[in-house]
Formats: sequence, C-alpha cells, structure tokens
Amino acid sequence: MHNLQVKNKTVVIIGGGVAGLATAIRLAVQGFTVTVYEKNDYPGGKLTAFEKYGFRFDAGPSLFTQPKNIEQLFEIAGEPIENYFSYKPVDVACKYFYENGKIVNAFTNAENFGKELEEVLGESSNTVAKYLNESKKTYDNIGSIFLNHSLHKRRTWLNKRVFKALAATKYSYLFQTLNKYNSTKFKSAEAVQLFNRYATYNGSNPYKAPGMLSLIPHLEYNEGVFYPAGGMMSITNALYNLALKKGVQFYFNSRVEKIIYHEEKVRGVVVNNENIESDIVVSNMDVYFTYKLLMNNEHKAKRILKQERSSSALVFYWGINKEFDQLQLHNIFFCSNYAAEFDCLFKMKILYNDPTIYINITSKMEVGMAPKGKENWFVMINVPANVGQNWEAIKKEAREKIIEKLNRILNIDIEPLIETEEILDPVAIENKTASYQGSLYGTSSNSKLAAFLRHPNFTGAVKNLYYCGGSVHPGGGIPLCLQSAKIVSELIKNEKRAH
Ligand code: FAD
Repeated sequence: MHNLQVKNKTVVIIGGGVAGLATAIRLAVQGFTVTVYEKNDYPGGKLTAFEKYGFRFDAGPSLFTQPKNIEQLFEIAGEPIENYFSYKPVDVACKYFYENGKIVNAFTNAENFGKELEEVLGESSNTVAKYLNESKKTYDNIGSIFLNHSLHKRRTWLNKRVFKALAATKYSYLFQTLNKYNSTKFKSAEAVQLFNRYATYNGSNPYKAPGMLSLIPHLEYNEGVFYPAGGMMSITNALYNLALKKGVQFYFNSRVEKIIYHEEKVRGVVVNNENIESDIVVSNMDVYFTYKLLMNNEHKAKRILKQERSSSALVFYWGINKEFDQLQLHNIFFCSNYAAEFDCLFKMKILYNDPTIYINITSKMEVGMAPKGKENWFVMINVPANVGQNWEAIKKEAREKIIEKLNRILNIDIEPLIETEEILDPVAIENKTASYQGSLYGTSSNSKLAAFLRHPNFTGAVKNLYYCGGSVHPGGGIPLCLQSAKIVSELIKNEKRAH
C-alpha cells in the first residue's frame, strides 16, 4: 500500500546501473513516482552482457555472492522472485594455480576448504576454520554496521545494537594491513596470497588496505558462492523487470546534463536541454563526475580525488574452440611476486610483467553459453586506473603475457584456440559507464580509514540530493551497490518521517 504522503512526490534517478535499479525499486515500493534517466540504450551499467558467434559473455561482474540482497528487493516489492530470477550454489569458489605448480580448489564448503589447504599447502585445517570464524565475527560485528548504515548520520552511532557490536570487536583489524593480518595467521606464502586476493574484490591493494577486509572470505566459505541462471546479466534483467512492474519509468539514451538546485534544495535535472522537475534526485553516476559535470563544482570534485581510485581491468572475451576439464567457473593464475604486482598497479601505474590472471567460464555451469564443445572465456587482469597510459601498447603486451603464462601453466598453445575476441580496457569502461579513470569500484580501500572517507549517500549542502552506487558509501561491487540503494532509501524514509 502506497504512503499517501509520498504518492505525488517524484524521484529522478540518474543512471540505471545495479544501484540505480535497486534504488528505483525501493523508492517505488515506498510510493514515490520514480523515473530513471540512463545515457546508454540498455539498463545495468557495468552489469551487462553481449553475444558473439554463439558465445555469450557477461561483460563485467562475474562473481555472485549474497543473493539475499536481491531476494530482499522481491520481498519488499511483494513479487515472487521465482518468476524473475533463480540461482544455484557453486562447489568451488575458485581454482587457484600457482607458478610453483601447486593447485588449490577453494571449496565453498568451509570444512573441505580447510582440508584442501592442509593437503596442498600444509596449513592446519584448524587454522583455516579459526580464520573463517574470525572472518564471520568481523563481518557480523563491524562489517554489517558499515554496510547497512550511513556512517555520516549521528543516529548510526547512537544505535544500541551498533554500540554493542563495536564493543565486541578487536580493533587490531583496523590498524594493520590485510597482508600483515594474513601473514600472522598462515605460514605458507600461497595461503597468504590467496587471502590477500580478497583486497582486489573492491579494487584495493592488500599491502595498504586494512585487515578488516578479512571479513570477505566469510561471504564465500560460510555463506556461499552462487551462479545465477542465465549468467550475471540475469540480475540486471530481473531488477529491470521488477522496477517496470513497480511502475518505474525508464528513459534510455538520455544523458542527464545538469542537476538543478536552488536555495540549497534540489529542484530537478536537465535532460536533452529540457528541465525536468523533481522533489528528490538520486545520482547513480560516479560521484566525481556528478560534482564535476552535473553540479559544476570543481572544488568538491577535486576533494573526492584525495582518496585513491580503485584499480581498473583489462578484459579479453575469448570464444575458445575447446573444453578444458581442468578449469572451473572461476580460476586464478597467480603471479609469484604479489607485492611487486600491486606496486605496479598503484604506485607506478604500469602493467606488471607477470600479471595474475582471472578466467571466468560460465559455459561450465550452463549449456547455451558457448557452442557445443567450446567455452566462453572471460579473461581479466587488474590494471591501474587510467591516467593516460598508452592502452593500445599495454593491451598488446598484456595479451602476449597472458597467452605465454596460460600456455606454460596449462601446457597448451592457446592462441590457435581463440575463435573470437573482444577487449575491454579502462578507457572503454569510463566511456561506457562514466566511471572516472575506468575504476571498477570507485575509490579504493587503500587506507585504514577508507570506509569513513568514501563519500556519504547524501550531501549536507543540497537537500533531497542523494548518491548511490560503487563510488559512494559503502563502496563498489554488486553487494555493496545494492546496500547503497538500501541506505539511500532508508535515509529518504527517515527524512520523510521527520516532516
Ligand atoms: P554502473 O554500473 O557504473 O552504472 C552507472 C550507470 O549510470 C551507467 O549505466 C551509466 O551509463 C549511467 N550514467 C552515468 N552518467 C550518466 C548521466 N549523466 N546520465 C544518465 N546516465 C548516466 N563487482 C562484483 O560484485 N563482482 C565482480 O566479479 C565484479 N567484477 C567486475 C569486472 C569488471 C570488468 C567490471 C567493469 C566491474 C566489476 N565489478 C564486480 C564491479 C561492479 O560491476 C560495479 O561495482 C557495479 O556494477 C557498479 O554499479 P553502479 O550501479 O554503481 O554503477
């Protein structure tokens, strides 16, 4: 039942990325009249897909955890999720290949994972169990506070539950890097590298980012990794269809050019030279560009850049003319000097000469993702955010290095098996989704206080203007983007209650 107070109130959402879609659904459920303006001719932003010669590729995100974030949207909307979206659990979160020949299957079953690390790396399964237990505690005590609330509202810190959870927390997580934290827990370099990798889940450097990121493994090994039927793109399709069902209106090929505000209150937006009035505006555009391009506020935009951008990616979408039994849905081919790789990514901002390679193959999970007997490889390496490097040269060099490494580890000649190829680089990421410097996750977590420094979901300077998505609190990645939508919709609900 719609709230009468908001029935005639309008919301404009700038951008139909996953955060914009989720915000649209939540506000439509609250009873607002919601319109989304999206500059592309499709919804989903980075969460999109394409097909080439019978190979279907998810273009961006490939890892799916915490399906409850999606389920919750259907619950509040009162719609049966099974009519829109389904998923299944995955047994191996990731298969890790090391340069020294060791191979680790990271089973999503925590016990099996512990046994595997004991057998292959000589870690005690007890140590692994303890680590995952700590990871859960960190997630429950601190993580959920950071992810579920605005950190910039006094009521968050006055909440009794929050207070209790913080009191139960050992703060050492915050004061050492993820690498230091992991190095005190595991004796093998391979296990430390495996757990350090979780910093890349929000485009960060484990040698700088806080140990708090050790909460991420909890999500994979205690809660699980999942595969959405139809690939990651089905998340976008499900949310888009749910938004339509809830009456959200979409305008594609509609770039918002300006946010109109007057006397410290938002009044609407300009699209195609037309003024569109709105009571509330939510920007799902990168917050840097929101300030710079839509609000003409160069000073504020510059302040946002004080926090380092997350890394970006080079993706090679390869249609492969063969099936590889030794590969899983998610695979990592590690480099042997992780610290050197992160120095290249964040300090020198160049391509590392032996990049860690990630390969995602959805044809492992579902027929129809690739022609029979073939596989759809999404081959990704982390690269620095774009600061004007020569990407044509980097792409050529990276491709050679990737092929050389895969040939060596898989003991095969990959090049003749590549039947089709598309490439995504940081410049294209910026062009397609207006992410400054092509960063995948907005700002990085490369400092102890990163979580506090990320831009809030609102601004004190302009009433009724809100921000959602990967470049603002609580950060990038699908689960966090969905949380940002929840936080924004709750801020709006609280604001409504106060009046
Ligand atoms: P976006 O998806 O960037 O959407 C913003 C939208 O706003 C875009 O559609 C854009 O066109 C539109 N827009 C911008 N400016 C305007 C304007 N002025 N007017 C109108 N519209 C505008 N995350 C994971 O969780 N797991 C992964 O495995 C993972 N891997 C990734 C791999 C790659 C290659 C990439 C690129 C990203 C990956 N991510 C992953 C990150 C994840 O995709 C993002 O954090 C998330 O999709 C961002 O969603 P968003 O809604 O914030 O923004």
